[in-house]
Amino acid sequence: MTLRFASIGSGSKGNCLVAEAGGTRVLVDCGLAPRETERRLARIGLAPADLDGILITHEHDDHAGQAYPFAAQHGLPVWLTYGTLLALTEAGKPPGAVETRIIDGRSAFAIDGLEVRPYTVPHDAREPVQYVLSDGAARLGVITDIGISTPHVEKMLCGLDALVLECNYDRDLLWNGGYPRWLKERIAGPFGHLDNRESERLLAALDRSKLKHVIGAHLSQQNNRPELARAALARALGCEESWVSLATQDDGFGWRTI
Ligand SMILES: [Zn+2]
Ligand SMILES: [Zn+2]
Repeated sequence: MTLRFASIGSGSKGNCLVAEAGGTRVLVDCGLAPRETERRLARIGLAPADLDGILITHEHDDHAGQAYPFAAQHGLPVWLTYGTLLALTEAGKPPGAVETRIIDGRSAFAIDGLEVRPYTVPHDAREPVQYVLSDGAARLGVITDIGISTPHVEKMLCGLDALVLECNYDRDLLWNGGYPRWLKERIAGPFGHLDNRESERLLAALDRSKLKHVIGAHLSQQNNRPELARAALARALGCEESWVSLATQDDGFGWRTI
């Protein structure tokens, strides 16, 4: 079996990653408007009918804001934690008729040929998780929206074949930028986001012996620069900067196959 993955958008205006193993294909998060999601899926050769469901990481709009409308339109099930479901419902976004499957943030499960291992992360959401996805052999780790790395996170991400890793902001750009102080403190706090330096440190701490793809993701358009994120990841990997890919807000990144 092969595992392949792509993204149709990454950043605070909407996140949506596609992962596929065997004949099973899921979205990880659904933060773009349904029509835009369809349009961008077509760019990577997919239609909504090719999907088997949506995995949600947490309730923030850029991840879950469009999950239920998109799922309802296309008859897709949604997997999420109970806390995320409660938070969405309280925010006036109940599942309605969408088939909702509650996951445990510490227990792996399978969607046909795709193995899904959620893991818990520190972020300012009700019960956030991130995911490691596998075809039974190769493993893809996804990690965005995490305030600080933890031993649990590093254990989950060791020995991966591919990693999509948040590089949200550059510390100097954030603190010297125009965001209000409360928002700067939220972003930089332990339940906010990873800055380039922290992402570099996290990547350097992992067993990278099998790693074939590293993609920097969820870059802030105000508080980061692609060249800074790329340089940080390249330092951790000891590789040329050109080897490091970045996911963009408008295009995400194209298919990678392991
Ligand atoms: Zn986010
Ligand atoms: Zn978030």
